[in-house]
Amino acid sequence: MNSADSMQVSALLEQLGYQRSSTAEEADVIVLNTCVVRQSAEDKAISRLTSIKALKLQNPSRVINLMGCLVGMVPPEDLKKRFPFVDVFSPPSNPDPLLSYLGTHLQQLALKDKHQINEILANEIEYQLPISLQGQAVAVFVPIVYGCSHTCSYCVIPLRRGQERSRPAQKIISEIHRLVSSGVREVTLLGQIVDRYGQDQPGMPNLSELLKRVNDIEGIERIRFLTSHPLWMTDELLDTVAALPRLMPHFELPIQAGDDEVLRRMRRGYTVEQFMRIVQKIRQRFSNVSIATDIIVGFPGETSVQFENTLAILKQFKPDMTHVARYSPRPGTSASQNMADDVPADEKMRRFREIEKIQETISTEINSHYLGTKTPVLFEDKVKKRWRGRTSTNKLVFVETEEDLRGQVKEVRIQWTGPWSMIAII
Ligand code: SAH
Repeated sequence: MNSADSMQVSALLEQLGYQRSSTAEEADVIVLNTCVVRQSAEDKAISRLTSIKALKLQNPSRVINLMGCLVGMVPPEDLKKRFPFVDVFSPPSNPDPLLSYLGTHLQQLALKDKHQINEILANEIEYQLPISLQGQAVAVFVPIVYGCSHTCSYCVIPLRRGQERSRPAQKIISEIHRLVSSGVREVTLLGQIVDRYGQDQPGMPNLSELLKRVNDIEGIERIRFLTSHPLWMTDELLDTVAALPRLMPHFELPIQAGDDEVLRRMRRGYTVEQFMRIVQKIRQRFSNVSIATDIIVGFPGETSVQFENTLAILKQFKPDMTHVARYSPRPGTSASQNMADDVPADEKMRRFREIEKIQETISTEINSHYLGTKTPVLFEDKVKKRWRGRTSTNKLVFVETEEDLRGQVKEVRIQWTGPWSMIAII
């Protein structure tokens, strides 16, 4: 989500004639887009902000914009007091405060730029590629649902990104048209519970209907969406993904814990059995499909037996990938207010490593089935001498070649597989 929002801010600044600088030291405008989903992300944001303070002192005419979840929907007064060198605060997914600031504070801005700013401000946000990335970016993110209204007990997102709001379908479709004409081949539609697209307002299409319309866009090669929630993954959605050729067989379906009592206290809204039933349904519906998941270890009160339950379920579930996080209390959440953060840090680390170790074994095993097979890969960029792309199932593939593969789908032969990536030849 932040990656999409940052791209959007870059696009708007480039429209106004700004250019991307390679270091913060050279920049006239610095936008720090922040995440606070865990304490570690917040710490990183604060430390980056502290180093930006020095740059502001060096050159006070430089504009400092703090954006994202550290700010929240309304910038709190204590944040302004704590970081007085910040010129402008922007909520997540909202570049307007920065544009208004530039429009009113920059004397040197040409009148036509001021007009342009007013025009951008008068219209609804449009995700687009910055000029510098046109013809370069192959796979991009497009937010389709802002905010979240689910209130998992540990999660700060609803408090910082606000209530769930689906974006108008027509807007999303026209954005993707434009992205495709700028060279984009793959879009990933984003929402905290993306399957709930359209449910928050009457008369909107649901995710299946939206996906059908995206699938019809000429020139789009691949479509993905994330994150799914087991309660909202309908048979209709699975049928749609199975039926549409450009929809990739990949799901991001966080389980968070493999113990019913922990899930209940997390307020996830499903039991382990219900979750596993959805997994089974997905695997029955698709012959070749990947599922990635998220797990939190060390949730308040998580006993070693409850953690063992999660390990046992993980071995049964066998996801293609697990994003593991160590629980950290987030301000304002019900878990932080009502439950003691009582799993010691070293025990959280031990549980974290345990999940990682098991996932590594599972991923090694799943990926080894690709060895020697031919599979289509969409190539995105070149890292050192190797082209990097992904299979339909979202597996990273590297190919060493002099050929320009950017934006192309090639059938490649897999020659080596590891837990996190594969190597292939064309
Ligand atoms: N909306 C998505 C994911 C949002 S945040 C969902 O429904 O799952 C990404 C991940 O961060 C979550 O899936 C969760 O695993 C993790 N996370 C959220 N809050 C956390 C917290 N307080 N401590 C540790 N991890 C957390």
